[in-house]
Amino acid sequence: MMHIYVGESGSWWDSMADDSLDMISSEVISCLKCRLCETRRNAVPGEGSLSAKVMFVGEAPGEQEDNQGRPFVGAAGKLLTELLQSIGLRREEVFITNTVKCRPPNNRPPRKDELAACRDYLDRQLKLMRPRAICPMGNSAIRALLNPTESVSELHGVPFEKDNITYFPMYHPAAALYTFALRKVMEEDFRKLRGVLDSLD
Ligand code: URA
Ligand code: SF4
Repeated sequence: MMHIYVGESGSWWDSMADDSLDMISSEVISCLKCRLCETRRNAVPGEGSLSAKVMFVGEAPGEQEDNQGRPFVGAAGKLLTELLQSIGLRREEVFITNTVKCRPPNNRPPRKDELAACRDYLDRQLKLMRPRAICPMGNSAIRALLNPTESVSELHGVPFEKDNITYFPMYHPAAALYTFALRKVMEEDFRKLRGVLDSLD
């Protein structure tokens, strides 16, 4: 189909009914909107099902993710995959992405301007998917999505509604690799998430 730029009234995809996850991914892969494009090896748009009930949002791709162009495929990703399996979910049934789609150098936290530049991709993914639940994992994603005054230690494992979406903040799986006690906390939070998702049927 032909794409017509509609000028001031909106960006070009607003004028089309057929934005798609593939379209977003291909834009991300060639995106030059912030400085992270200069140091990435591969952008990491995110992956999963368009009809997923729940979206998991991490901070930013790490080294493995940058190498492979896929989210959560390193050590933290292995734990995330196991935690999903523990509540009967396969990666393909959920959607997994990050607040920024390119790896910051040396895994530094993404900067404000980078988060702002990248935000539109996450918003478009959300608008297309319309997940019933969103799990921001770790303070960075929690802040980006909810801007709360509390930190993950107070917010994790407690669902709350905002704009008809159930938010369920979690620790970042990498935190459980550094602090072993958090692994049990994450396992318990995933069990609670199972209940939350079941209640959304
Ligand atoms: N950590 C993240 O926040 N995201 C990834 O994709 C991998 C590790
Ligand atoms: Fe584009 Fe986001 Fe990558 Fe920055 S982090 S270059 S905004 S895709």
